[in-house]
Amino acid sequence: MICDAHTHIKIKDLKYLCDNEIYSMACAMNPEESKELIENTAECKYINPTCAIHPNYSDRYEVSEMMPYFDKVKVIGEIGMDDVWCTVPLVDQRTAFLKQLNIAEETNKPVIIHSKGMERLVADILKNYSMPKIIHWYSSLNYLELYFKMDCYFTIGPGILSGDESVINLVKRLPLNRLLVETDGIEAINWALGKEADIDITKDTLLMMCQKISSIKNEPIELVNENIEKNFLTFF
Ligand SMILES: [Zn+2]
Repeated sequence: MICDAHTHIKIKDLKYLCDNEIYSMACAMNPEESKELIENTAECKYINPTCAIHPNYSDRYEVSEMMPYFDKVKVIGEIGMDDVWCTVPLVDQRTAFLKQLNIAEETNKPVIIHSKGMERLVADILKNYSMPKIIHWYSSLNYLELYFKMDCYFTIGPGILSGDESVINLVKRLPLNRLLVETDGIEAINWALGKEADIDITKDTLLMMCQKISSIKNEPIELVNENIEKNFLTFF
């Protein structure tokens, strides 16, 4: 079973993912994307839609606009804060983040967390919430112990294939029973690997990432895959 625990997809790429049986948590980042994703994936057993207002959109939409879509998904995300890639004022990001965490807690749904550059503050906020947490593409060498204390899951991104120091450090320290892999979508694969490839490199990229995890952790690939699959199914 091939699992991608966090991706952004175009509807035209659904056929590739289903034909290749890639189990994916596909993430919509605003109300329009959520409507489109949920409608188009209703019949596809490989795609588990997740949705939320992404930090990038947190000054353009009200969280209340997401309510019809939150009802239809098993996982809320990605949500969080970012002061590296995102230019939206932090006050708006924080408001949307807290509102969506409260909804997830009330409805007992796991969350996917975006924390770029805000790892310390995001950990401080998350410790007040008890739902399962998936930390997406964690890219800091610091504060990991705060997240381990909360028993978070982590998605390892394609940066592992380009030697990203923070990703490799995380893989070394993370127990197999909390480890997932993600592509974050074809654009992120291309960004991480310096390529201009099409969706059809997704499967090989995921397989290579699992191999790399196996070699970094010095554990058999079968054991790595077995854990990734089990962890993924916790949320599916
Ligand atoms: Zn993402």
